[in-house]
Formats: sequence, C-alpha cells, structure tokens
Amino acid sequence: MTEAPIRVLLVEDDEDDYLLARDLFAEMHGAYTLDWVADDQSALEVMRRGQHDVYLLDYRLGRRTGLDLLREASALGFARPTILLTGQGEREIDLEAAEAGASDYLEKARLDATLLERAIRYARDRWRHRLELERRVAERTIELQRANAALRESEERLRMAFESANIGAWDFDPINKSLRWSDRCKAIFGLPPDAEVTYSVFLERVHPDDRAATEQRIAEAFDPSGDGTSAIDYRLQWPNGEVRWIKAQGKAFFEGKGDKRRAVRFIGTVRDITQEKESQARIHALVEELRQADRRKDEFLAVLAHELRNPLAPVRTGLEVMKLAARDPDTVAEVRSTMERQVDQLVRLVDDLLEVSRITRGKMELRKQRVELADVVQTAIEACRPSIDELAHTLTVSLPPHPIYLNADPHRLTQVISNLLNNAAKYTLNHGQIWLTVVQQDAEVVLTVKDTGIGIPHEMLDRIFNMFTQVERLHEMGYRGLGIGLTLVKSLTEMHGGRVEVYSAGLDQGSEFVVRLPILTDGDDPKQIQHSVIPPPAVVRRVLVVDDNQAAADMLSRVVAMLGHQVCTAYDGDQGLEMAREFRPDVAILDLGMPTTDGYCVARRLRELPWGRSAVLVALTGWGQAEDRRRTKEAGFDHHLVKPIVPEQLQQLLANGRTK
Ligand code: ADP
Repeated sequence: MTEAPIRVLLVEDDEDDYLLARDLFAEMHGAYTLDWVADDQSALEVMRRGQHDVYLLDYRLGRRTGLDLLREASALGFARPTILLTGQGEREIDLEAAEAGASDYLEKARLDATLLERAIRYARDRWRHRLELERRVAERTIELQRANAALRESEERLRMAFESANIGAWDFDPINKSLRWSDRCKAIFGLPPDAEVTYSVFLERVHPDDRAATEQRIAEAFDPSGDGTSAIDYRLQWPNGEVRWIKAQGKAFFEGKGDKRRAVRFIGTVRDITQEKESQARIHALVEELRQADRRKDEFLAVLAHELRNPLAPVRTGLEVMKLAARDPDTVAEVRSTMERQVDQLVRLVDDLLEVSRITRGKMELRKQRVELADVVQTAIEACRPSIDELAHTLTVSLPPHPIYLNADPHRLTQVISNLLNNAAKYTLNHGQIWLTVVQQDAEVVLTVKDTGIGIPHEMLDRIFNMFTQVERLHEMGYRGLGIGLTLVKSLTEMHGGRVEVYSAGLDQGSEFVVRLPILTDGDDPKQIQHSVIPPPAVVRRVLVVDDNQAAADMLSRVVAMLGHQVCTAYDGDQGLEMAREFRPDVAILDLGMPTTDGYCVARRLRELPWGRSAVLVALTGWGQAEDRRRTKEAGFDHHLVKPIVPEQLQQLLANGRTK
C-alpha cells in the first residue's frame, strides 16, 4: 500500500524563501504536498480546515513570530507537528519553541532537502507517538475510573450487607496501636458514632470474665507462624450493666520474612448474637424439659403397671376363694366386698387416666350449672371419708355462713376437692390434721386444703402440678399413686376460670393447696341444677340386652332381672335381632361395638319394625362425648349410657321408659 502524501503547510512572508522551500520539496524522495500562505491571519484560516499534517512556520512573520502563531493555533485546537524556520543567530529560541509545542527548528541558511525531509518525518512520527500515548492514557484513565466506580459500588454493597446483617467492621493497626470502628461496630459496643475508640476502650467493654480469653485469642492471631485467622464469641458489658453476646471474626496480615515477620494489620467483623444465644438456651431448656417429661412418662408407665397389678391380684385370688368357698356365704360376702373395693380402685385409676388424656387432647367438656359450693364440698368429703377415717385423721371443715354459688360442673369440682382431700389423707402420717377452709374474697372463693403431713420439698413445688410428677422418695416409702391427680386438679380448676397454688415449708412441714374460683354473680344465669329423684319401678318391662362381651351381657341382664323386669340376652347383633322379633322388647340395651352387625345397625333395623318404632333404644358405650352422643341419636337411640352402667341409672331409665 502506497503511503498517502504528507501534506505540509508553509507559512512564509518572503516569497523567495517559499520558492526555495518549494525547490527543496522537489528534491525530496517521499510524497509531499506543499501549500503556502504568506500571512499569519490567512494561515489560521487554512489551519482551521485541518487539512495538513505538518506546519512549517517562519519565525519572523511581520507583526508577530511563528511561535505566536503556533500558540494561537494550539489554543484554537488546530495544533499539528510544527517545525520553525529561523534566520541566522536565532538559536536562542529553542527552549521557547519546545515550550510552545514545536517539534523542531531549522536554520533557513543551512537548510537542505535531506535535513528538511528528516525533520518533517521526525516531527510527524513524534506527533503520532504523542497522540498514541495520549490515547492510551485516556483509555487507562477511563478504565481506572470504571474500576474505581466498581470498587466504590462493591464497598457500598458490602456496607449495606454489613448494615442489614447488623455486622460491625473494625480495623486494628498493631504497630501504631490505632483502632478504627464502623458506626455499626460502635453501636454494637454501645458507643455513639462520634466516640473515640482505642484498644483499651474495646477491652473495657469486654465482660471481665471474658477479657483474658479474648486477649489470648487476639495474641494467637498475631502469631507469625499461624494463618492469622481468629473467631471468638465473647460477652460485652455495657456501662448500664447490660450484657450482650458478640461473635467476632478477624484476620491478621503479616509483613516480613523469618524473624522479621510480624502482623501489620488486623481486620474483621463483630455481630451481636445475644438473641441467637438466648434462643439456643431456650431450645436447650425445652429439650431438657422434654427429656424430663419423657423420663416421667417412663416412670409413670412402670408405676401404672404396678398400680394396676395391685388391685388385680386380690380380685384374682378372690375368685379362686369364691370357687372353693361357694357354700360358705359369709366368706363369699367378705371376699366379694374386698373384690368390689379393688375393682372400684381399678375403675378410678382408669377413669383418671381417661380424663387426663381427654384434657390433654382438649376433649374434656364441662357441664356447667349453678351449684352451691357447700353441696360440692359435702359430696367430696363423703367420697374421701373412708380414707380419712382409715388413717384416723381429724378433718376440720370451715364454710362461710352464707351460700356461695358457682357456675361449675359439680362432678368435676367434686373431683378437684376430693383429689386434694385424698392427697392430704394419703400424704399425712396416721392421726394427722386436715383442714378444709372456704372463704369468700371479693368475687372469688378461696378453698384451702391444708394438712400436717410429709410436706413437699421446695424444689418440687414448681413441678408438682405436672403430669406424672411425684416426689421421688415417696415410692420407696410405699406411697402409691400415678402422679396425675394434681394435673387433673389444675386443669379442671383452670377450666372453671380459677387457679391453684401450693405452699409447703418443706419436708414434714405439711402442705397447703389453695384453689381460687370465680363466684357466680346475679347477672349470670346458668341452667338451674336439676335434682332428680329416682321413682320406684311402676311397670315391668321386657328388656333385650345385646353385648358381644358375654360376661358383661350376663351381668347386666342379671341387674335388669333383679330390678324386677323381664330380660332376654343376646351375644351378637344378628342374634339380638332374631330374638327381638319373638320377644318384642319395650327396651333394648345395645352395645355399640360388635363384630358383623354393630349396635347402630341393630338400632336402625329395630326402628324399621312396626313395634320397634315405640321401643326404647339404649346405647351402651365406653364413649360419652357430645360427638358420640350425636351419633347414637342419629342412629335412632333414645338414651346413651356410658359404661360401667350404674344400677340406679338403669332403674330410673326402665321406670321412665321413653321420657328423658
Ligand atoms: P399421686 O398422689 O397419684 O402421686 P398427684 O398428682 O395427686 O399424684 O400428686 C403428685 C405428687 O405430689 C404426689 O406423688 C406427692 O409426691 C405430692 N403431693 C400431693 N399432695 C401432697 C400432700 N398433700 N402432701 C405431700 N405431698 C403431696
């Protein structure tokens, strides 16, 4: 590729000199174009067009010098590689020329083609070189600006991340012992943003118990043989005494080699982890609580097995004795009464268990009504009288002179009081004292059961109402129980809108249980209590009993017969239906859960028969919740009895027929 000609502009006011220059150009080897202007003003005009690669400027241009022209052209942005042509003895301009930006100057007198050509090319190449340098500098400058902007951006991002994660940053110079903290770091240490920080300010804030360990870890980070990293949790103590947990991470940077190696900078972060520590502690406590509950449950199962076996053993022996002594009515009567007591005990245990499980599953329903507290207290005392008398305790009861009414489930409330009374009797050595006191305090009634018994160790007081909790050494001493009585007391009291507290000064200091319940005010209008009187049997009824548990069916049939009614017994649903067709019962007592044809099915089929519509259908079941009752009602039953059936209840039901 042939090179484009170099376009030269000559500014020369002397035409002879121009002609001379033109001749020299003609002698030159390279390709050039030469334009000539004679005065500086026209020169600027031509320069403005920017069509030249090199300027040749005469130093003497009439009013001004070639240097003046060059300066002006530069100021206007028309600068090009420029060579000054000087007369004789004008060498002293060299410095000035260089400053004005001229590449070279040539003495006209010594000018020849070679010199001129070399000067032109040299000027042009230097100019290009300079332009290239300038371009590269500009490029680098832009790159640097971009890098700076990216750095600022990432610093800002980091700062924002630190802020949102609540992380404080610190920077320590171990040589000058100077410390810098971000505002967040200061806030974490409880300092204002303008606070001066030093290493000793930092140490002062570290909790005294953690200071030595923290300093030790910092010293380890500065160990030249290590990797400089450090991570430590420590506590801060603010001047107001508040204690916070901190997680600090740092990295030391080293300089020098061998013996001269030492830490020159230590930077890192701090984060307030007080909340994390607190929730960790809570989780630990919870796990511990669960572990204890689990242990209590295991113990409970062991105790339960024991408690169930205790009454079962005499029942079993009793049966054997009855077989052997069948002809000895006194022995049989005696054994039977023992067995009854044991079975009652079993029923109580199972009832308690079912009730706790109902309460914990939220299935317990209260049948609240207006009750007089004195009646409930009386019933509870009657229930506990045997155990109180057996141990020869003295019970002192004190009730307010006026009646106190509560909106309560009388059965459940009796349970609360009798559980407390029974415990007082059980956990008091023979011939002890028990006080049951009721006083009214404003809108509350306060019922206290106090004894002179074995008391409760201080550390047990908080837990005594927990399920399956028992004072440990009591079992060794022969005390029996499942550890659910007080759980029932507490839950039932709370379901009545009350609360229960326990007091004991310690072992052998007696115990005191205080139950507070809201009193029924005049504004409340619960259902009136219905006292029912069992009427004497008036009519003999035909009663069909259907239960797949043969023993239960036979027993129930016997009771029905004893009550003076006619009875017919079937051991499954189909048999029951078959018998019913013949027997046409007035009343059918049906077990619900039976194989093939269950109680619901028998009831529906009976209802389909013409006489069956008026028969009284009684469901017999272990389940007595509202939901269970709704189901039996839907199936056409008139009554819903919960096992074990109480003879009085049956008597009343058979006497009343369909009236409910
Ligand atoms: P249980 O009596 O079946 O063990 P409770 O829940 O009724 O279960 O009582 C829990 C524990 O509280 C008892 O095992 C006993 O250690 C303690 N306790 C309850 N009442 C008294 C009392 N009046 N005096 C001393 N200890 C008692």
